[in-house]
Amino acid sequence: MSWRTKSRLAWLHDLPGVSENEALASRTSFGIGGPAEFFVELARPEAIEKAIEGCRERDIPYLLLGAGTNLLVADRGVEGLVVRVVNREHHIDGTRVRAGAGLKMMRLARIVADANLRGFEFAIGVPGTLGGAVYQDAGCWGKEIREVLVEVDGFMPGAGKQTWKPPALKFGYRTSALRDGDLKGALVVSATVQLTRGDGEEAKQLMSKLTRERNETQPIKTKNCGSVFKNPQGDSAGRLVQAAGLKGTREGAAVVSELHGNFIINEGGATAADVKRLIERVMVEVKRRFGVQLEPEVEMVGQWK
Ligand SMILES: Cc1cc2nc3c(=O)[nH]c(=O)nc-3n(C[C@H](O)[C@H](O)[C@H](O)COP(=O)(O)OP(=O)(O)OC[C@H]3O[C@@H](n4cnc5c(N)ncnc54)[C@H](O)[C@@H]3O)c2cc1C
Repeated sequence: MSWRTKSRLAWLHDLPGVSENEALASRTSFGIGGPAEFFVELARPEAIEKAIEGCRERDIPYLLLGAGTNLLVADRGVEGLVVRVVNREHHIDGTRVRAGAGLKMMRLARIVADANLRGFEFAIGVPGTLGGAVYQDAGCWGKEIREVLVEVDGFMPGAGKQTWKPPALKFGYRTSALRDGDLKGALVVSATVQLTRGDGEEAKQLMSKLTRERNETQPIKTKNCGSVFKNPQGDSAGRLVQAAGLKGTREGAAVVSELHGNFIINEGGATAADVKRLIERVMVEVKRRFGVQLEPEVEMVGQWK
Protein backbone atom coordinates (compact mmCIF):
# COMPACT_ATOMS: atom_id res chain seq x y z
CA MET A 1 0.00 0.00 0.00
CA SER A 2 1.29 3.45 -0.88
CA TRP A 3 2.19 5.85 1.93
CA ARG A 4 0.29 8.57 0.03
CA THR A 5 -2.82 8.90 2.17
CA LYS A 6 -4.87 12.08 2.30
CA SER A 7 -3.67 13.00 5.79
CA ARG A 8 0.02 12.49 4.99
CA LEU A 9 -0.23 14.54 1.80
CA ALA A 10 -2.10 17.25 3.72
CA TRP A 11 0.70 17.35 6.31
CA LEU A 12 3.32 17.71 3.56
CA HIS A 13 1.30 20.46 1.85
CA ASP A 14 1.18 22.36 5.13
CA LEU A 15 4.92 22.35 5.77
CA PRO A 16 6.15 25.97 5.75
CA GLY A 17 8.12 26.72 2.56
CA VAL A 18 7.33 23.43 0.86
CA SER A 19 6.95 23.16 -2.91
CA GLU A 20 5.75 20.28 -5.05
CA ASN A 21 7.32 18.63 -8.06
CA GLU A 22 10.49 20.65 -7.62
CA ALA A 23 13.41 20.13 -10.03
CA LEU A 24 16.41 18.40 -8.50
CA ALA A 25 18.67 18.21 -11.57
CA SER A 26 19.66 21.86 -11.14
CA ARG A 27 20.50 21.13 -7.51
CA THR A 28 23.03 18.44 -8.35
CA SER A 29 26.48 18.78 -9.92
CA PHE A 30 25.52 16.10 -12.50
CA GLY A 31 22.52 18.15 -13.65
CA ILE A 32 20.52 14.94 -13.99
CA GLY A 33 17.36 13.43 -12.56
CA GLY A 34 13.65 13.90 -11.99
CA PRO A 35 11.88 16.12 -9.45
CA ALA A 36 11.33 15.90 -5.73
CA GLU A 37 7.72 15.08 -5.00
CA PHE A 38 7.90 17.58 -2.12
CA PHE A 39 10.86 19.89 -1.51
CA VAL A 40 11.86 22.28 1.21
CA GLU A 41 15.04 24.24 1.87
CA LEU A 42 15.69 24.82 5.55
CA ALA A 43 18.39 26.65 7.49
CA ARG A 44 17.14 26.45 11.08
CA PRO A 45 18.18 23.12 12.65
CA GLU A 46 14.90 22.93 14.63
CA ALA A 47 12.91 23.26 11.40
CA ILE A 48 14.93 20.52 9.67
CA GLU A 49 14.56 18.27 12.72
CA LYS A 50 10.82 18.88 12.88
CA ALA A 51 10.40 18.08 9.18
CA ILE A 52 12.22 14.74 9.30
CA GLU A 53 10.70 13.79 12.66
CA GLY A 54 7.29 14.44 11.11
CA CYS A 55 8.19 12.21 8.18
CA ARG A 56 9.29 9.42 10.50
CA GLU A 57 6.11 9.62 12.57
CA ARG A 58 4.01 9.32 9.41
CA ASP A 59 6.17 6.82 7.49
CA ILE A 60 6.83 9.37 4.76
CA PRO A 61 10.10 8.76 2.89
CA TYR A 62 12.59 11.64 3.08
CA LEU A 63 15.99 12.46 1.66
CA LEU A 64 18.50 14.97 3.03
CA LEU A 65 20.20 16.99 0.33
CA GLY A 66 23.44 18.92 0.67
CA ALA A 67 25.13 20.38 -2.41
CA GLY A 68 24.13 17.37 -4.52
CA THR A 69 27.72 16.63 -5.56
CA ASN A 70 27.69 12.90 -4.89
CA LEU A 71 24.24 11.96 -6.12
CA LEU A 72 22.69 10.35 -9.16
CA VAL A 73 18.99 11.16 -8.94
CA ALA A 74 16.67 8.74 -10.76
CA ASP A 75 14.83 10.04 -13.83
CA ARG A 76 11.51 9.45 -12.08
CA GLY A 77 12.64 11.65 -9.23
CA VAL A 78 12.47 11.22 -5.48
CA GLU A 79 9.30 10.31 -3.62
CA GLY A 80 8.29 11.89 -0.36
CA LEU A 81 10.12 14.91 1.00
CA VAL A 82 13.55 16.20 -0.01
CA VAL A 83 15.04 18.54 2.60
CA ARG A 84 17.89 20.72 1.39
CA VAL A 85 20.07 21.47 4.40
CA VAL A 86 21.37 25.05 4.26
CA ASN A 87 22.40 25.95 7.82
CA ARG A 88 25.67 27.73 7.12
CA GLU A 89 26.67 29.48 10.34
CA HIS A 90 30.18 29.03 11.73
CA HIS A 91 31.90 29.78 14.99
CA ILE A 92 35.65 29.92 15.61
CA ASP A 93 36.88 29.35 19.15
CA GLY A 94 40.69 29.40 19.19
CA THR A 95 41.73 26.52 16.97
CA ARG A 96 38.33 24.79 17.11
CA VAL A 97 35.74 25.52 14.47
CA ARG A 98 32.08 24.53 14.56
CA ALA A 99 30.06 24.95 11.41
CA GLY A 100 26.58 24.20 10.17
CA ALA A 101 26.15 21.12 8.00
CA GLY A 102 25.01 23.22 5.06
CA LEU A 103 28.25 25.19 4.79
CA LYS A 104 30.33 24.18 1.76
CA MET A 105 33.68 22.56 2.53
CA MET A 106 35.43 24.89 0.06
CA ARG A 107 33.94 27.96 1.73
CA LEU A 108 34.95 26.72 5.18
CA ALA A 109 38.48 26.07 3.88
CA ARG A 110 38.72 29.77 2.92
CA ILE A 111 37.13 30.98 6.16
CA VAL A 112 39.60 29.11 8.34
CA ALA A 113 42.57 30.19 6.20
CA ASP A 114 41.43 33.80 6.73
CA ALA A 115 41.51 33.06 10.46
CA ASN A 116 45.11 31.79 10.19
CA LEU A 117 44.18 28.18 10.85
CA ARG A 118 45.82 25.24 9.11
CA GLY A 119 44.84 21.63 8.54
CA PHE A 120 41.70 22.14 6.45
CA GLU A 121 43.33 22.88 3.10
CA PHE A 122 42.33 19.44 1.75
CA ALA A 123 38.69 20.59 1.82
CA ILE A 124 39.29 22.90 -1.15
CA GLY A 125 38.96 19.76 -3.31
CA VAL A 126 35.53 18.75 -1.97
CA PRO A 127 32.67 20.75 -3.53
CA GLY A 128 30.02 19.34 -1.17
CA THR A 129 28.78 20.53 2.21
CA LEU A 130 30.21 19.74 5.64
CA GLY A 131 27.20 17.49 6.33
CA GLY A 132 27.72 15.56 3.11
CA ALA A 133 31.42 15.24 3.94
CA VAL A 134 30.75 13.76 7.39
CA TYR A 135 28.17 11.41 5.87
CA GLN A 136 30.88 9.55 3.98
CA ASP A 137 34.20 10.78 5.33
CA ALA A 138 35.01 12.89 2.30
CA GLY A 139 38.62 13.68 1.71
CA CYS A 140 41.19 14.71 -0.79
CA TRP A 141 44.95 14.59 -1.29
CA GLY A 142 45.36 11.87 1.31
CA LYS A 143 43.41 13.54 4.10
CA GLU A 144 39.88 12.79 5.29
CA ILE A 145 37.45 14.85 7.36
CA ARG A 146 37.60 12.30 10.19
CA GLU A 147 41.24 13.30 10.83
CA VAL A 148 40.23 16.77 12.03
CA LEU A 149 36.77 15.97 13.37
CA VAL A 150 36.16 16.40 17.10
CA GLU A 151 32.42 15.83 17.31
CA VAL A 152 29.18 16.07 15.39
CA ASP A 153 25.86 17.41 16.60
CA GLY A 154 23.14 15.37 15.01
CA PHE A 155 19.52 14.43 15.13
CA MET A 156 18.08 10.96 14.83
CA PRO A 157 14.34 10.85 14.12
CA GLY A 158 12.74 8.84 16.90
CA ALA A 159 15.68 9.38 19.23
CA GLY A 160 16.15 13.16 19.17
CA LYS A 161 19.29 15.27 19.42
CA GLN A 162 22.58 13.41 19.72
CA THR A 163 26.29 14.16 19.82
CA TRP A 164 28.59 11.74 18.07
CA LYS A 165 32.33 11.43 18.65
CA PRO A 166 34.22 9.97 15.67
CA PRO A 167 34.15 6.32 16.91
CA ALA A 168 30.34 6.40 16.98
CA LEU A 169 30.36 7.40 13.33
CA LYS A 170 32.28 4.21 12.37
CA PHE A 171 34.13 5.83 9.52
CA GLY A 172 35.48 3.76 6.68
CA TYR A 173 36.66 4.60 3.19
CA ARG A 174 33.93 6.94 1.87
CA THR A 175 31.42 5.60 4.36
CA SER A 176 30.18 5.93 7.93
CA ALA A 177 27.34 4.75 10.16
CA LEU A 178 25.29 7.52 8.50
CA ARG A 179 25.70 6.03 5.04
CA ASP A 180 25.79 2.31 5.81
CA GLY A 181 25.11 1.70 9.50
CA ASP A 182 22.97 2.32 12.53
CA LEU A 183 22.76 6.10 11.95
CA LYS A 184 21.08 5.78 8.54
CA GLY A 185 18.45 8.51 8.19
CA ALA A 186 20.06 10.74 10.81
CA LEU A 187 20.79 14.40 10.22
CA VAL A 188 24.19 16.02 10.65
CA VAL A 189 23.32 19.38 12.18
CA SER A 190 26.84 20.76 12.68
CA ALA A 191 30.38 19.52 13.06
CA THR A 192 33.37 20.67 15.08
CA VAL A 193 36.89 20.37 13.71
CA GLN A 194 40.22 20.83 15.47
CA LEU A 195 42.77 22.80 13.44
CA THR A 196 46.18 24.28 14.21
CA ARG A 197 47.38 27.87 14.34
CA GLY A 198 49.44 28.81 11.29
CA ASP A 199 49.98 31.11 8.36
CA GLY A 200 46.73 31.65 6.47
CA GLU A 201 48.56 33.03 3.39
CA GLU A 202 50.52 29.80 3.14
CA ALA A 203 47.26 27.84 3.43
CA LYS A 204 45.77 29.89 0.56
CA GLN A 205 48.85 29.38 -1.60
CA LEU A 206 48.69 25.64 -1.02
CA MET A 207 44.99 25.58 -1.89
CA SER A 208 45.61 27.52 -5.12
CA LYS A 209 48.36 25.09 -6.08
CA LEU A 210 46.19 22.05 -5.36
CA THR A 211 43.28 23.55 -7.31
CA ARG A 212 45.53 24.30 -10.32
CA GLU A 213 46.84 20.73 -10.31
CA ARG A 214 43.32 19.36 -10.07
CA ASN A 215 42.06 21.46 -12.97
CA GLU A 216 44.75 19.92 -15.15
CA THR A 217 43.99 16.30 -14.27
CA GLN A 218 40.22 16.20 -13.71
CA PRO A 219 37.26 17.53 -15.75
CA ILE A 220 36.22 19.79 -12.88
CA LYS A 221 34.36 22.32 -15.02
CA THR A 222 31.96 19.76 -16.53
CA LYS A 223 28.72 18.34 -15.14
CA ASN A 224 29.86 15.35 -13.07
CA CYS A 225 29.70 13.79 -9.62
CA GLY A 226 33.39 13.60 -8.80
CA SER A 227 34.80 10.08 -8.54
CA VAL A 228 32.21 7.59 -9.76
CA PHE A 229 33.92 4.57 -8.18
CA LYS A 230 35.77 3.98 -4.95
CA ASN A 231 39.42 3.10 -5.44
CA PRO A 232 39.95 -0.61 -4.91
CA GLN A 233 42.53 -1.56 -2.27
CA GLY A 234 46.01 -0.68 -3.53
CA ASP A 235 44.84 0.52 -6.94
CA SER A 236 43.01 3.39 -8.58
CA ALA A 237 39.63 3.09 -10.27
CA GLY A 238 40.67 5.69 -12.86
CA ARG A 239 43.74 3.66 -13.80
CA LEU A 240 41.68 0.48 -14.21
CA VAL A 241 39.05 2.21 -16.36
CA GLN A 242 41.78 3.68 -18.56
CA ALA A 243 43.64 0.35 -18.82
CA ALA A 244 40.40 -1.32 -19.88
CA GLY A 245 40.23 1.16 -22.78
CA LEU A 246 36.98 2.64 -21.52
CA LYS A 247 37.79 6.35 -21.69
CA GLY A 248 35.37 7.99 -24.10
CA THR A 249 32.82 5.16 -23.79
CA ARG A 250 29.31 6.54 -23.87
CA GLU A 251 25.67 5.82 -23.21
CA GLY A 252 23.53 8.57 -24.67
CA ALA A 253 24.96 11.88 -23.48
CA ALA A 254 26.85 10.28 -20.57
CA VAL A 255 30.52 9.69 -21.36
CA VAL A 256 33.57 8.43 -19.51
CA SER A 257 35.93 11.42 -19.33
CA GLU A 258 38.97 11.37 -21.64
CA LEU A 259 40.86 13.35 -18.98
CA HIS A 260 40.22 11.05 -16.00
CA GLY A 261 38.79 7.53 -16.16
CA ASN A 262 36.97 7.79 -12.85
CA PHE A 263 34.74 10.65 -14.04
CA ILE A 264 31.52 10.37 -16.02
CA ILE A 265 30.43 13.58 -17.71
CA ASN A 266 26.94 14.68 -18.58
CA GLU A 267 27.54 16.31 -21.94
CA GLY A 268 24.05 17.81 -21.81
CA GLY A 269 20.75 15.97 -21.65
CA ALA A 270 22.11 12.71 -20.21
CA THR A 271 19.53 10.73 -18.29
CA ALA A 272 20.09 8.92 -15.02
CA ALA A 273 19.40 5.69 -16.92
CA ASP A 274 22.25 6.56 -19.35
CA VAL A 275 24.66 7.07 -16.45
CA LYS A 276 23.52 3.91 -14.66
CA ARG A 277 23.99 1.86 -17.83
CA LEU A 278 27.45 3.34 -18.32
CA ILE A 279 28.42 2.61 -14.72
CA GLU A 280 27.28 -1.01 -15.10
CA ARG A 281 29.12 -1.36 -18.41
CA VAL A 282 32.35 -0.10 -16.87
CA MET A 283 31.96 -2.43 -13.87
CA VAL A 284 31.37 -5.46 -16.09
CA GLU A 285 34.32 -4.67 -18.35
CA VAL A 286 36.79 -3.94 -15.51
CA LYS A 287 35.72 -7.17 -13.80
CA ARG A 288 36.13 -9.12 -17.05
CA ARG A 289 39.56 -7.65 -17.83
CA PHE A 290 41.14 -7.49 -14.38
CA GLY A 291 38.91 -9.48 -12.04
CA VAL A 292 38.34 -6.35 -9.93
CA GLN A 293 34.84 -5.55 -8.68
CA LEU A 294 34.45 -1.78 -8.72
CA GLU A 295 32.09 -0.26 -6.19
CA PRO A 296 30.26 3.00 -6.91
CA GLU A 297 31.14 5.98 -4.73
CA VAL A 298 28.29 8.00 -6.22
CA GLU A 299 24.98 7.35 -4.48
CA MET A 300 21.92 6.49 -6.53
CA VAL A 301 18.77 7.92 -4.99
CA GLY A 302 15.11 8.10 -5.94
CA GLN A 303 12.70 5.83 -7.75
CA TRP A 304 14.65 3.53 -10.07
CA LYS A 305 12.07 0.86 -10.81
C1 LIG B 1 34.01 17.90 -9.20
C2 LIG B 1 33.84 17.06 -7.95
C3 LIG B 1 34.96 16.70 -7.23
C4 LIG B 1 34.84 15.93 -6.07
N1 LIG B 1 35.95 15.58 -5.37
C5 LIG B 1 35.83 14.88 -4.22
C6 LIG B 1 36.99 14.54 -3.45
O1 LIG B 1 38.11 14.91 -3.78
N2 LIG B 1 36.81 13.81 -2.32
C7 LIG B 1 35.59 13.41 -1.90
O2 LIG B 1 35.49 12.77 -0.85
N3 LIG B 1 34.48 13.70 -2.62
C8 LIG B 1 34.57 14.42 -3.75
N4 LIG B 1 33.45 14.74 -4.49
C9 LIG B 1 32.15 14.20 -4.05
C10 LIG B 1 31.34 15.09 -3.08
O3 LIG B 1 31.72 16.45 -3.15
C11 LIG B 1 31.46 14.58 -1.66
O4 LIG B 1 31.03 13.26 -1.56
C12 LIG B 1 30.65 15.44 -0.69
O5 LIG B 1 30.96 15.04 0.62
C13 LIG B 1 29.14 15.34 -0.90
O6 LIG B 1 28.53 16.38 -0.16
P1 LIG B 1 27.15 17.02 -0.64
O7 LIG B 1 26.81 18.12 0.28
O8 LIG B 1 27.22 17.40 -2.08
O9 LIG B 1 26.17 15.80 -0.44
P2 LIG B 1 24.97 15.35 -1.38
O10 LIG B 1 25.53 14.88 -2.69
O11 LIG B 1 23.92 16.39 -1.41
O12 LIG B 1 24.46 14.09 -0.58
C14 LIG B 1 25.24 12.94 -0.44
C15 LIG B 1 24.71 12.13 0.73
O13 LIG B 1 24.97 12.87 1.93
C16 LIG B 1 23.76 12.94 2.69
N5 LIG B 1 23.78 14.22 3.43
C17 LIG B 1 24.00 15.45 2.93
N6 LIG B 1 23.90 16.36 3.92
C18 LIG B 1 23.59 15.68 5.06
C19 LIG B 1 23.35 16.06 6.40
N7 LIG B 1 23.39 17.33 6.80
N8 LIG B 1 23.07 15.10 7.30
C20 LIG B 1 23.03 13.79 6.93
N9 LIG B 1 23.23 13.38 5.66
C21 LIG B 1 23.51 14.32 4.74
C22 LIG B 1 22.65 12.91 1.66
O14 LIG B 1 21.44 12.47 2.24
C23 LIG B 1 23.20 11.91 0.67
O15 LIG B 1 22.88 10.60 1.07
C24 LIG B 1 33.55 15.50 -5.64
C25 LIG B 1 32.41 15.88 -6.38
C26 LIG B 1 32.55 16.66 -7.51
C27 LIG B 1 31.33 17.07 -8.29
